[in-house]
Amino acid sequence: MNEFALIQRYFQQGFPQQANTHLAIGDDCSVVRQNHSLDLVQSIDTQVAGIHFPAQAPADLIAERALRCAASDLAAMGATPYGFHLAITLPEANEAWLERFSEGLKAAANELEMQLLGGDTTRGNQLVISIAVQGTVPKNQALTRSGAQVGDEVWVSDTIGRAALALPQVLDNPADISGLARSYYFPQVHFLLGQALLNQATACMDISDGLLQDAIHLARASNVSLQFNADAIPTLAEPLSPNWMQSITGGDDYQLLFTAPKQLHYELMNLTDKFSGLCCIGEVIAATDKPLILQHQGKEIELSGPLGFQHF
Ligand code: ADP
Ligand code: MG
Repeated sequence: MNEFALIQRYFQQGFPQQANTHLAIGDDCSVVRQNHSLDLVQSIDTQVAGIHFPAQAPADLIAERALRCAASDLAAMGATPYGFHLAITLPEANEAWLERFSEGLKAAANELEMQLLGGDTTRGNQLVISIAVQGTVPKNQALTRSGAQVGDEVWVSDTIGRAALALPQVLDNPADISGLARSYYFPQVHFLLGQALLNQATACMDISDGLLQDAIHLARASNVSLQFNADAIPTLAEPLSPNWMQSITGGDDYQLLFTAPKQLHYELMNLTDKFSGLCCIGEVIAATDKPLILQHQGKEIELSGPLGFQHF
């Protein structure tokens, strides 16, 4: 059973519903109505040493990355960040390690303007970091995965696959933050772009587990299919090369993937003044048996093998 089937089978049904819940399981964040003008958006992310980051990575880098990855789900909703809770499981209380972790966490929290609101500290066999983030969105405006319309264009916020291509370097020398490793440890959180897309994008998500796999999630949530033009996807690798496949299926990008009406094309192009990486990569088509069609110079590319990262 894969990760998503598991969630659906054991966690998606049978729990009580609350009247103010606008959106529950299935999107980047849940959305809960706060009052007549504001919605609260929340999400939680866990990172396990040896799975999500090398156990030997410097503690400040582990913290920087963990908060940024967690906060990215808020950006995907178009939210303004507010704060976070931190649950940490440590194999030991190593003061030098904790000092560095705390420094990295503070640096990221200050940059992202997110207050540490609380948490939980426990001992365990390996380092596990869970971060629950919260932010706000004007009532009813949260960007979700489910609003893409046939005829919309599909956009990404910036280059896809930098973190995936950094992985060999990161695993080889976890303390080296030169070159691509910077994108791995310090993913940019696209709060300002997400907020600029409120009332513009019809659907939005952040790419955490690979462009292709995550695009399929957006397509299914919106009941449409997506068609991408391989040459239009901004990557560091030549289309069809092994590095290219790695780029569009590898995780840890934290770029935004969104859809918007064609009529907004020039308005969005104007946003490139502020968000220089914005790129239109394809269009939304009526649902077919394939949620995602990838074309290269007019010919469809057969998609096989894993299209992204899954835990199970
Ligand atoms: P993301 O990559 O945006 O963090 P995930 O792929 O981790 O999202 O999760 C997909 C959806 O399933 C999200 O809406 C998330 O809240 C939900 N989800 C994942 N695991 C669980 C769980 N154990 N219980 C309830 N909901 C879950
Ligand atoms: Mg997400």
